[in-house]
Amino acid sequence: MVIFVDVDVNEIARLGRDFPWRKPSSCPKCNISFWWHGFIPAYFDHLSQAVFLRRLRCPRCGAVHRLRPKAYWSRFRSTIQVINQTIDRFLNRDWRSDSPGSRQRLWWRRFCAKAKLRIGFGWEYFPDAFDLLISWGQIPVSSTI
Ligand SMILES: [Zn+2]
Repeated sequence: MVIFVDVDVNEIARLGRDFPWRKPSSCPKCNISFWWHGFIPAYFDHLSQAVFLRRLRCPRCGAVHRLRPKAYWSRFRSTIQVINQTIDRFLNRDWRSDSPGSRQRLWWRRFCAKAKLRIGFGWEYFPDAFDLLISWGQIPVSSTI
């Protein structure tokens, strides 16, 4: 499971394994304290090298959890804000010049498919479709329906 925490990726990159991670209180299933369980590399858009994110393990159930900066969804290298801005630009028939076009088009296709499925006919007239999907617990640009 991924546990989202309020941390700055740039600080993690700067301090490496010395970054002072705060341990979440306890395993949600067993309600006992986690043990640290090493690091896992993760890649983010603006950083040329991997940063090492902390992992935790529950000593009772053995579940392994990963800590992840809350500015990012799982499996995305761009911040939620950047993705949101990209979709906004596409809605205005524009695109970002600072990000690969193929990735922007992929997000746009996924967003359209998800909005069509979840919101239905006329979704494009919802100016806040992106936020609406998030409020329903969806990642607007993920491939999973
Ligand atoms: Zn547990």
